[in-house]
Amino acid sequence: MWPGEESGRDAHRGTDRKTGEPLLRSPILDYLDAIVESTGHVVSGAPADYIPELAAADPDRVAVALCTVNGTVYASGDADHEFSIQSMSKPFAYALAIEDHGLEYVLDRVGVEPSGEAFNELSLDPETGRPRNPMINAGAIATHTLVRDDQRPAVDRVLDLFSDLAQRPVRIDEGLAASELETGDRNLGLAYLLHASGRLGQDPAAAVAGYVRQCSANVTVRDLALMACTLANGGVQPNTGQRLFSRRTTRHLLSVMASCGMYDAAGDWLTSVGIPAKSGVAGGSSGCSPARWGWRCSPRAWTPTATARAAWS
Ligand code: GLN
Repeated sequence: MWPGEESGRDAHRGTDRKTGEPLLRSPILDYLDAIVESTGHVVSGAPADYIPELAAADPDRVAVALCTVNGTVYASGDADHEFSIQSMSKPFAYALAIEDHGLEYVLDRVGVEPSGEAFNELSLDPETGRPRNPMINAGAIATHTLVRDDQRPAVDRVLDLFSDLAQRPVRIDEGLAASELETGDRNLGLAYLLHASGRLGQDPAAAVAGYVRQCSANVTVRDLALMACTLANGGVQPNTGQRLFSRRTTRHLLSVMASCGMYDAAGDWLTSVGIPAKSGVAGGSSGCSPARWGWRCSPRAWTPTATARAAWS
């Protein structure tokens, strides 16, 4: 650590917490600033608009945060701005389902093969009838129903997990969830497909409602760096020391993120960037280098990987 730095989510305010003296600036912050600056010219693409509320997102917000496995968060840009976690929730819900039921049980119901298709493709594996993997929507809806509801909705357990990972209460953006549900026919179609193949032990509409609320949890880039860092740290939250996932679950999850986390761009991502990662349709991507750091960036909403690529190249 650099002089004045503290381990914990408030590290890197730029001044010493007690004396208010300016801290010696870590070169990591300069590096992150340079990444944010060097991707400022990116103006291609457009915010996702199939969820009406997402279309209203400010595409000029940008941030990048990196959390080292000692729990120090380095951030640049709008790192405390809240936005919805969307598909970056999928790995964590998957890990929770594995912790609840064991890996074999979950593997019986959701595969681990890259689909090579878009995230919302209306298809199941024709041979097994399972969703191909837990990162595409079919697999994520099935996975959500595997999270045990201990006398309260599964989504509440997912929220508690997010809060433990981020070290602060994480809440749902209910307006956004309602907006997605209004136009959620495709996810409903997937849930009915799963139900018809005997792969959904729940009412399809209830499964989609729970899954959509999971995706509508509001987080910041700083939160997501800590969340990813917990995976880099073998399942232990680096600041609280709480073990949230077993090593075996974490290792399995990181393999699935590496092979399936970027959907039909997974191969391109793995060969050009090379770390387990997950994207979200609200405009970000999150990844980690096991045993080193977790990282999250929210570049302009329409180019979720531009800042990520800059960070790693
Ligand atoms: N909630 C979104 C959906 O189901 C998540 C998609 C994503 O982030 N790729 O369509």
